[in-house]
Amino acid sequence: MTNAATSRQQMDAARRAARIEHCGHGVFAVDSGYVRPGFDAIHLIVEAGRAAIVDTGTSHSVPRVLAALDALGVAPGCVDFVVLTHVHLDHAGGAGALMRALPEARLTVHPRGARHMIDPTRLWQATCAVYGREAAEALYGEIVPIDPQRVLETGDGASVTVAGRTLEFLDTPGHARHHVTIRDSATGHLFAGDTFGVSYRELDVAGRPFVFPSSTPVQFDPDALQRSLARLLALAPEAVYLTHYSKRGDVARLGADQQALIERYAQIALSHADAGDARRSGIAAELRALLLGAARAHGVTLDDARILALIGADIELNADGLVDWLDARERSKPDAHASEPQRPRARSTTPANAHGATR
Ligand SMILES: [Zn+2]
Repeated sequence: MTNAATSRQQMDAARRAARIEHCGHGVFAVDSGYVRPGFDAIHLIVEAGRAAIVDTGTSHSVPRVLAALDALGVAPGCVDFVVLTHVHLDHAGGAGALMRALPEARLTVHPRGARHMIDPTRLWQATCAVYGREAAEALYGEIVPIDPQRVLETGDGASVTVAGRTLEFLDTPGHARHHVTIRDSATGHLFAGDTFGVSYRELDVAGRPFVFPSSTPVQFDPDALQRSLARLLALAPEAVYLTHYSKRGDVARLGADQQALIERYAQIALSHADAGDARRSGIAAELRALLLGAARAHGVTLDDARILALIGADIELNADGLVDWLDARERSKPDAHASEPQRPRARSTTPANAHGATR
């Protein structure tokens, strides 16, 4: 068999695995393959033969993205931008490897995230510290550094154009401090990363999406997230694209549900603030009850075990993030250092430690 035939076969396999979905208006969702089908979406925006890619999955996702471009008739040299919502590894782990395959592309990233894409050493060390090197490589593959000349820092108000179609950047902290949301001028739709929470298709009821917040470590800030959401809801978009998972309508209702749940997350965390070593398990138990109750109220009829198989890992991460938030609040109190014994700071503040490393 020739090399060309082999790579064509590999491309076909990658294309099938990518489960390319057309979402309308030249937007396509590609399944990154991370964790399970329908978990982690990469979006392609195609306009007049040019393209932007929003979030990248991991390095293992690169063949799927290339196969999707091939299926859509977009040459690698016609991709103008790789756009990151934030640098957690399920969104950005594959950015460097993908940039290597796209000769004309520039990377857009929040100013706070840029240095971790240019030099991913700390990001990678934090990941290996959690998993061990072997497991980290199995999950994420190699994290490839990106030439700073190709990196565009896109803070609030920045914009780029793809064949005349403008993508505007809004600073949306809350899930992480280095998180942007992208507004597509052609539709008014938003690419919200994790700012709008997580909405797995398995929990849809009669086409109505279920959503819950992602408070993964280490920068969760409920007040900032509420402000970011309010700002996005004021734009009244008809649809939002979440990384977990893809296009969702019914945005006003989703936003209201999300806002109510963020408030409950904060209340639950605060109610366990003085529980010492029992904080984390107490918070996780209450989050489990909260989200199972919310799913039931939404009309989900799957049994508890099935629901927890879908969202159990998120619950654990969200509990970790709320404990981190409590610690951060404690540290920021003006008299904290004077009156309390110093608590060891076990966690790195590297932003991508977080969600990427543990998800
Ligand atoms: Zn994510």
